[in-house]
Amino acid sequence: MPRLHRPTSLDEAVELLSTLDNPMVYGGGTAIQILLKQGILFADNFVDLALVPGLRDVTEDDDGVTAGPMVTIRRMETAAPPLAADAYRHVANPRVRNTASVGGNLAHGDYRLDPPTALLVLDAVVLATSVHGTREIGIREFFTDFQQTALEPGELVSGVFIPHQDPAAGHHFEKNTSLSENDWPCASAAVLLTDHTVHLGLGAVAPTPCHVTADITGLDDQGAVEAALAAVEPVLDPIPDVRGSVEYKRRLARVTVEDAVRRAWKDRRHG
Ligand SMILES: Cc1cc2nc3c(=O)[nH]c(=O)nc-3n(C[C@H](O)[C@H](O)[C@H](O)COP(=O)(O)OP(=O)(O)OC[C@H]3O[C@@H](n4cnc5c(N)ncnc54)[C@H](O)[C@@H]3O)c2cc1C
Repeated sequence: MPRLHRPTSLDEAVELLSTLDNPMVYGGGTAIQILLKQGILFADNFVDLALVPGLRDVTEDDDGVTAGPMVTIRRMETAAPPLAADAYRHVANPRVRNTASVGGNLAHGDYRLDPPTALLVLDAVVLATSVHGTREIGIREFFTDFQQTALEPGELVSGVFIPHQDPAAGHHFEKNTSLSENDWPCASAAVLLTDHTVHLGLGAVAPTPCHVTADITGLDDQGAVEAALAAVEPVLDPIPDVRGSVEYKRRLARVTVEDAVRRAWKDRRHG
């Protein structure tokens, strides 16, 4: 059985991570508990962040919103900029959202996660802390491979900074599931659309969440959809599973992107 450690400061937490054998950060525990029950998670020590002061803080300034790693996904539904708030709102169900944490959602590194799609579009910054200090990792460099992140051993996510989005831009988060409505996405897309550029964050359609852009200068809505579809085509690399075959997921990804761009276009025109 793994031992549970409950540090009461960030310094103590990173010290434990650097000295304990086979340690693992314990955030909300929603992913860890499932993996433990499935018998596919092996850690000797859990470093639970629940008692570390300040890690549930959300602050806002002229540039954006900074959330501590233990802020719940539920809270981000109202605290985050609108596109990110929409993506957080689509995670699982209220039980999961009330428990799962911002830091755990990022560090989990799953290719299907909803919030990273919006964070990629908004160019968020992950704060990573270890005994050596805190460094900033641009979200677009954070998801490095299938269930791999740029976090080094001994580092934990100590926060995420999400820039304010351009209020004149249209935005939309679209999620399609193929099992129950609250399930993981089969394809998801976050879109931010300015006069010149469509930014897309994609979930569940490749081994990592991914980000692409397309120039839409002078295009109408149909032109913007076609430009977006052409931009996403090279990154579509779905993993077949119980939620669908490769071909089904490719097709659903295109539908998801088209719907998201059309709705973001409408949001811009009427925004
Ligand atoms: C039934 C169910 C349905 C779900 N559906 C969706 C969905 O539709 N969309 C979606 O996006 N997500 C979904 N999720 C995933 C959910 O978002 C994750 O379980 C959650 O984000 C993980 O957060 P947590 O705080 O519970 O992490 P934990 O379970 O505590 O940890 C998960 C991983 O992150 C690490 N970790 C945790 N906190 C930190 C930190 N601060 N620094 C470094 N490492 C850390 C842990 O060591 C572990 O490796 C679902 C989960 C469940 C249980």
